[in-house]
Formats: sequence, C-alpha cells, structure tokens
Amino acid sequence: MTSLTSLSPLDGKKALVTGGSRGIGAAIALRLAEEGADVAVTYVQGEEAAREVVAKIEAMGRRGVALRADLGRAAEATASVGRAAEALGGLDVLVNNAGVGVLAPLGRLSPDDIDRVLDVNVRGVFLTARAAADRLPRGGRIITIGSCMAERVPGPGGTLYGTSKAALIGLTKGLARELGARGINATLVHPGPIDTDMNPSDGPTAPAQSALTSLGRYGTPAEVASVVAFLAGPDASYVTGTALSPDGGYAA
Ligand code: NDP
Repeated sequence: MTSLTSLSPLDGKKALVTGGSRGIGAAIALRLAEEGADVAVTYVQGEEAAREVVAKIEAMGRRGVALRADLGRAAEATASVGRAAEALGGLDVLVNNAGVGVLAPLGRLSPDDIDRVLDVNVRGVFLTARAAADRLPRGGRIITIGSCMAERVPGPGGTLYGTSKAALIGLTKGLARELGARGINATLVHPGPIDTDMNPSDGPTAPAQSALTSLGRYGTPAEVASVVAFLAGPDASYVTGTALSPDGGYAA
C-alpha cells in the first residue's frame, strides 16, 4: 500500500530559497517543505525570523537550515549555494526570491541606489543561478521571482526596479537554453502586488495598485508560493524558459 507521505511531490528534494526569512520567500520555503522538500533559507537582517521559518519546516518533519548571505555581495551570493548544498546534502531546486524594491523618480536615484538594486536583483541572482547550474542534477529547477513590473511599469518611479526585473527575463531564457540539454528547467514568476513588508496592502499606493489588477485586490505570499511549488514539482517537467504570473490579472 502507498503511504501518504510518498505522495508528496517534492519528497526527498532539497531546495534553497533566497530571502526566505519573511514575505514571499518565507511562504515559498514553507510550501516547498509542506510538499516534502528539505529547505535552506537565506537572510540578512532577519536572523530570528529565519530561525522561526526553520522551526516550522522542522515541525513538518523536514530538514531546515538558515544561512546568512547578503546577495548584494558577490562572494556571499556564490557561496550561499554551496553552503546550502553542503548543509542539506545536495540541491535540486534554487528559488531566487531575495530582492529589494527601490521606487523613486529618476533624478533622485544616486549611483549607490542603482548599484544596490542591480547588485541584489540582478548580479546576485545571476551568481546564485550560475553556482546552482554547476550542482543541479537532471530534473533540477531554477525558479526566479521577477515582477509584474518587468513588462509593464504603470507610472513614474519604477524605472530602476523595472530595469532590474526585466533583466531576469533574459537570464531565465538564457539559462533554459544553456541548461536544457542537462534536463534542468529555468522559469520565472511575475507576481502582482503582494501583501508583504515591501509592499503592504495598507500602504499609501495600495488602492492604486489594487485598481491595476483585474481582481481588484492584492495577492498573498501563499498565492505566489503555490505557483512556485508547481514549477518545482513533477507536473512542470516540460515548462522552461518562460514565466507564470500570479498577478491578479495585472497584465491582462
Ligand atoms: P520583503 O521585503 O518582504 O522580503 C525580502 C526578503 O529578501 C527578506 O527575506 C530579506 O531578508 C531578503 N533580502 C533583502 N535584501 C537582501 C540581500 N541583499 N541579500 C539577501 N537577501 C535579501 O519582500 P517580498 O517578500 O515582498 O519580495 C520577495 C521578492 O518578490 C522580491 O524579489 C520582490 O522584488 C518580488 N516581488 C514582490 C512583490 C510585492 O508586491 N511584494 C511584487 C512582485 C515581485 P532579511 O529580512 O533577512 O534582511
């Protein structure tokens, strides 16, 4: 007789979720663990929050690991993948979730602002993806969190953030082409407005953001995590080089 646990789609898989201490990343880490994976999360400021996520993962009977890694620092970004693989005993899924949102008019962006956003949102993602590409087995997945603003910037102030997220489209397509022969899939997820510390649903621009969606509301981190879980699992084996958009119809 088949046991219930053997039906978990990610049973035995090992995943790294960057920026998994809170928000969308924490929801993704918990969802992947629910589906059977052992999960490492990275954090920068939120050590306590990351430990709480790990405790919840362990309470589900999976292995959880919290690693401090600032993805804006090249060496830390690259090393985070090897550290996660060593701690978990391998790596099957990388979720590039960590990101920073800096929304400001062009003239108010300093060179440091530009460096910070591109270092974390683009270079850090590139480096972790490359490090994962060296380790992932056949069937491995690289899933990157982009944004609905990668393809549609709905007003002034989003130029830098939109630039950083649009770069991930090229990254994902390139990875899919480069890694496809090894049976590794690369995909992108474009969330719409999601209620987190970065974009609270009671913030000053929240009504305008809700109005830009077809459903007229913010999404939840869990509504992004379910899409990531699909892309990480066996049902998405023929999905690569493309994006799914849990965006409430923002792009409709
Ligand atoms: P939050 O600001 O709520 O959480 C960000 C997470 O990333 C935290 O775990 C934080 O860690 C981590 N992080 C921040 N800076 C770094 C860094 N330099 N290196 C490593 N980790 C870092 O963000 P969200 O959950 O809202 O966003 C997650 C992803 O989703 C981002 O890529 C964002 O751009 C994207 N997104 C979000 C949307 C939204 O409306 N919320 C919409 C579309 C896309 P710590 O707290 O430990 O410092």
